[in-house]
Amino acid sequence: MHSGHLIVITGPSGVGKSTIVQEVLHRTNARYSVSVTTREPRPGEIDGKDYHFIDKQRFEKMIQRGELLEWAEVFGNYYGTPAKPVYEALKAGETIILEIDIQGGLQVHEKIPYATFILILPPSWDELLNRLIKRSTEPPEAIKRRFAKAKEEIELAQKSKVYDYTVINDKLENAIEDVIKIVNSVSEKTRKDN
Ligand code: ADP
Ligand code: 5GP
Repeated sequence: MHSGHLIVITGPSGVGKSTIVQEVLHRTNARYSVSVTTREPRPGEIDGKDYHFIDKQRFEKMIQRGELLEWAEVFGNYYGTPAKPVYEALKAGETIILEIDIQGGLQVHEKIPYATFILILPPSWDELLNRLIKRSTEPPEAIKRRFAKAKEEIELAQKSKVYDYTVINDKLENAIEDVIKIVNSVSEKTRKDN
């Protein structure tokens, strides 16, 4: 029996998920699930903190050994959630946040349907594109691909009906506060249930 709570945060690339989650982690007791990825680190990203950066061979081994709670190929790279830290956190009564893509979110829903699912949306398509450009972590071709995928992803997420909350990331501080409220109410509920 698990006594903690899992929160899955999803949304299109560039919407502001990482920015929001970093602040939420500072201001709540929630922990972060560090994903494994085969993508190259961006300047400033720290191995073991932002991601565990691994090669494709090691990623495939983790799939074979059943070590991933979910995984997906996103924009030509593999991303996955190591299962053990998640189950350990849940067992320890902690609130743990996953920041993953929509396909991954749907896989988590199959395995842990009692998790809380939050979809982060941009205030407009133009603003989503602005943010991808402003971040300047991908070349123009990759930005185009990420932007084109956004519509598809949002439609899939909305159709799936697994999302409990939708947060529009217009003013950053408001979006952070909305997510904090959800995290705190979920953590509170977990405490009362135990
Ligand atoms: P994601 O993790 O969803 O891919 P990021 O957190 O990397 O997105 O944010 C993409 C860019 O948008 C970053 O440059 C970030 O500083 C900026 N950003 C995030 N939220 C807002 C906001 N509410 N208003 C303006 N810019 C934002
Ligand atoms: P980025 O390369 O911008 O860090 O992430 C690209 C996409 O991969 C984002 O939508 C992000 O949420 C998603 N992602 C990050 N980690 C994981 C993971 O462990 N699993 C899945 N399915 N998606 C992930």
